[in-house]
Amino acid sequence: MRIIIAGGGASGLFAAYTIACHYHRHSADMTKPDITVLDANDVLGKKILSTGNGRCNLCNTDTDALKYYCEDNLFVKKILAQFHYSDAMKAFNRMGVALKDKGGYVYPRSMQAATISSALINACRLLGVKLINNCVIKSITCVDSSNDSSSAGKAYNRHEKNNIFCIEADKSTYYADCVILAYGSNAGITTDYTGTVMKSVKSLGHKLHTYLPSLCSLYVDMTKKHYADFFKKSSGVRTDIVVKAENFSYAGELQITNYGLSGIVIFQISHIVSESLYQKKKREVKLYVDFLASYESTDVCRLLRTQHFYEKRTLLDLISGILNGKLALALIQLYSAMINRQITPDVKNISEEELLEVISFMKNVSFYVNKTNDIAHAQVCMGGVATQELTDNLESRLIENLYFCGECIDVDGICGGYNLMWAWATGYVVGRGIANREWKPA
Ligand SMILES: Cc1cc2nc3c(=O)[nH]c(=O)nc-3n(C[C@H](O)[C@H](O)[C@H](O)COP(=O)(O)OP(=O)(O)OC[C@H]3O[C@@H](n4cnc5c(N)ncnc54)[C@H](O)[C@@H]3O)c2cc1C
Repeated sequence: MRIIIAGGGASGLFAAYTIACHYHRHSADMTKPDITVLDANDVLGKKILSTGNGRCNLCNTDTDALKYYCEDNLFVKKILAQFHYSDAMKAFNRMGVALKDKGGYVYPRSMQAATISSALINACRLLGVKLINNCVIKSITCVDSSNDSSSAGKAYNRHEKNNIFCIEADKSTYYADCVILAYGSNAGITTDYTGTVMKSVKSLGHKLHTYLPSLCSLYVDMTKKHYADFFKKSSGVRTDIVVKAENFSYAGELQITNYGLSGIVIFQISHIVSESLYQKKKREVKLYVDFLASYESTDVCRLLRTQHFYEKRTLLDLISGILNGKLALALIQLYSAMINRQITPDVKNISEEELLEVISFMKNVSFYVNKTNDIAHAQVCMGGVATQELTDNLESRLIENLYFCGECIDVDGICGGYNLMWAWATGYVVGRGIANREWKPA
């Protein structure tokens, strides 16, 4: 049996590893399949190298289906039920990788992403998987096994006959009895290799939801001068916030940039913003930011009033005790611009009511996002192959022996190791599904 894996990233390599392991364990009573991984890059597993800022946050001990955005949460649940985060940890341990759990975020103990990609590549090699790099796939077609070339391009119904796939790459043509599509997305990269494979997937009859950036920073509308001033003055500040948009809310670190909002907390909400702007075609998405997230407004007022020499101090001085000073100033100025009046600097001249208003404002500042960062600057893409078209084994419901794993499926996770977890879990499910099948001799 010939298996071609289109894409040697996290999911493709893990699928290859799973199948090869299975046949290695049962080698006495089975004929080993011929497993080949084709990848366009100069090295396999290239994207893994840039994950987690070069440290690779490979999974999370808090994994469940609710950490993922998708059309059908049950679909994700069924996949994760077959492969737990502890299975991913055990698999990497078996490959010789020691791991480190940092508050649920799992990394290689070396804190080097290269440890993960090397371990996978070495394991695949040792198990006899053929790994071919610098190989750009141009098309994948399903051909009639009795006459390979004449019917190339015709998409067969899964019950019709034994499929043979023809994979045209830039330097060679490959034939396979089974194809695993693990082409990922262009998130975080500038080269476009996925386009040709996606075209083939569409020709084979699959529906692809448009790729949109997720886990990315957001551009804020700065046509109003006070917003432009706010970002100019507070750019570079990092602070903990709670952000809300369209019934979703996340807590975490914000990074203010000269164009808008970034940082993990913004990445978490970026899927919602991307969906609203590009799918629902909204002109802007309103975000609400709580800069004093761990406090109630009244508690902040009480806290300020209990500070030494309260009466002699300025509002900025007092607020700078609980917020980054640059941010405190930018927020006070933004508030003044919004109420169209300068607020007096000395706190003794500020009424109780007004103090409460300023604090309440800081707990609910609205920003209008009009653009996300682009796919090349995102960590993942939303969109991809419609989950309804896949079985619980991630086999195509349209074309027999065609499987999908990883980011090319229309499921994307939030930040925190969940996307690599999805790559390992789907790679495993596909690999096990293929290994457990009874294959008719070609
Ligand atoms: C900067 C950055 C940081 C990240 N950090 C984390 C993190 O810490 N934790 C986490 O969980 N997730 C992280 N992610 C997300 C994670 O890397 C991806 O979700 C994961 O790599 C997806 O795996 P995949 O196998 O589906 O796709 P990929 O890893 O993208 O692999 C797909 C492979 O297919 C190949 N390919 C595509 N088209 C063709 C073609 N036509 N011919 C031949 N080969 C082709 C590509 O070359 C690529 O190697 C990060 C992403 C980025 C960009």
